[in-house]
Amino acid sequence: MLSSRLLKRLRKDFQLSIITLMGLIGVLGISPYAVYRLLEGNYLVSLADTVIVLSTISAVIYAWRTGDTVKPGIYLAVIFCVGATLIAINLGVNGLFWIYPLILFNFFMVSPIKALVATALVMVSLAVHAMLVPGSVFESSYQMVSFLVTGLMASVLTFIFAYRTSSQRDQLQLLASQDPLTGTRNRRAMNEELKIAMSSHRRHGIPYAVLLMDLDHFKQINDRFGHQTGDQVLIAFAALIKSASRQEDRLFRFGGEEFLLLMPNTDRNGLQAAAAHLQQSIAQHLKSPGGPVTVSMGGATLRHNEHWEGWLKRADLHLYQAKSAGRNRVIIDEPARTGDSLKQH
Ligand code: GH3
Ligand code: MG
Ligand code: MG
Repeated sequence: MLSSRLLKRLRKDFQLSIITLMGLIGVLGISPYAVYRLLEGNYLVSLADTVIVLSTISAVIYAWRTGDTVKPGIYLAVIFCVGATLIAINLGVNGLFWIYPLILFNFFMVSPIKALVATALVMVSLAVHAMLVPGSVFESSYQMVSFLVTGLMASVLTFIFAYRTSSQRDQLQLLASQDPLTGTRNRRAMNEELKIAMSSHRRHGIPYAVLLMDLDHFKQINDRFGHQTGDQVLIAFAALIKSASRQEDRLFRFGGEEFLLLMPNTDRNGLQAAAAHLQQSIAQHLKSPGGPVTVSMGGATLRHNEHWEGWLKRADLHLYQAKSAGRNRVIIDEPARTGDSLKQH
């Protein structure tokens, strides 16, 4: 049902729900003022109110249509700041009350630092206007100082709160996408990035390759030297692959001792060269107390119109073949021909 779909989107996207809520508050809370000021003959304030209401509605529609909440957020913050400043200049103390919700509003709409700058600009503009036209915004210098001090306090406290929240959110996001042992990205992040790769291949034709890697006889390392030694080998392996691959390549821990390297801008030749280079680095550097550790690899390039799960399955199939053929080797899929199917390889 449409309404349940809309509700689901609101629940999932906090920024969209805030922009929508602000849209509702904006329309319900400010429209009556626009009418009231018009009847009163205060056309400037009525116009400012009307512009604010219409901009809010269009920003909400834009955010719903495109899913982009950053641009409408900045747009709304600018419109509300300019509108509130004009209203405060025009109405004096009665208009100043609006600055306090504006402070909170900015922190909901844009990044903490942008919100702090926006709020500071509003307060400085009001103070400068009051000094240029004495008696225009504030009734006394005492009132102006009180306004600036309380406004500054509200801004700084909100900034600290918003900053803490956003850094905690970043940290949570990192924790949710990272494997704690090796520091590589986890399977959840992998699924997301494979989907992105799939759509960017469809849209822009960028070639992508994956290399699925599985440590050979890893269970024996655990059995002979203990789980902790096994862990150290996994950490060393991840560090080695990261240092031997390109910066744009992404390493994920696929499972226990199985890793996936996602390589953008890589065709079959590139994949072959990268796999050979990685095998060489592993042969030179990867060791356990029992001697060198070898790795089997299965590689596949993303085919036209292929789903990411099928792509991954092909790499897995080649890894399995590499294991069956005696381990410590790379098997990469054949170039795709029209009408090719997985079974032919
Ligand atoms: P193969 O060459 O066929 O890949 O043999 P293998 O022994 O590497 O494969 P198998 O899948 O039988 O064993 C994988 C082992 O990896 C079993 C599991 O205990 C171990 N393992 C999985 N995750 C971890 C981990 O986080 N730390 C350690 N130390 N071992 C792990
Ligand atoms: Mg293994
Ligand atoms: Mg395995």
